[in-house]
Amino acid sequence: MTRRPYIVGNWKMHGTRAMLSEARAIDRAAQRHMKVEVALAPPYTLIHPIHREAEQIAVGAQDCHHADGGAYTGDISAAMIADAGAKFVILGHSERRTGHNETDALVRAKAEAAFAAGLRVIMCCGESAETRESGKAIAFVTEQLTASLPALADLPGDIAERLTIAYEPIWAIGTGTAATTGDIAEMHGAIRKLLVDLFGEEQGAEVRILYGGSVKPENAAEIFAVPDVGGALVGGASLTADSFMGIALAASEPFEV
Ligand code: PEP
Repeated sequence: MTRRPYIVGNWKMHGTRAMLSEARAIDRAAQRHMKVEVALAPPYTLIHPIHREAEQIAVGAQDCHHADGGAYTGDISAAMIADAGAKFVILGHSERRTGHNETDALVRAKAEAAFAAGLRVIMCCGESAETRESGKAIAFVTEQLTASLPALADLPGDIAERLTIAYEPIWAIGTGTAATTGDIAEMHGAIRKLLVDLFGEEQGAEVRILYGGSVKPENAAEIFAVPDVGGALVGGASLTADSFMGIALAASEPFEV
């Protein structure tokens, strides 16, 4: 089975209730692009309001805590975001790994908690500019993903339904310069091989691998034409319905997953 292209907006720390009109416009437009799965990860404060109104798009969170509950001031558990209406959570984003010192082991514990709460997980990975320049990008991402993903026994049975990978080279995030299609093809091919090694031919071949890093309506079609690209994780260009749905439109054309 080939899964629908998955286009996920990461609003980061942008958005008050004034942005709900944009989410509504994205939801309305998504109803006209049913060949594409469109989802939004707003700040925590907007998860429930968007969930309450959305008819087509899924709403998710940008992080969660690894514990079920307890004395963790300022944190929020996977069960809490699920209770607010989240269907998925983005984990291991480089802004969390770098800005909050999140290790692979912590990201893995968060993924276990998210799966246990019934959420889908978008697991991010990606190398720095220095790692790419040193020629070690593939080895780095392979190791990072292997260490961040839960063991097979801690994954849900329907791995391809519940797990998505997002390859986001750090140097491409928010810079306006996406990775080249050649670099994306090489990295997604390596990630696909890893997934097949870890989860077997059937499930490993079906897990979607998103590309993230300066995706815009102008470059989306060429990125989606790259083998093993199953959609996009979009930051800046997801903040307006016009640019975000321009990307979704590019994904609604047939492309290889
Ligand atoms: C991101 O942070 O997940 C991202 C891909 O950002 P941008 O699209 O702005 O590069």
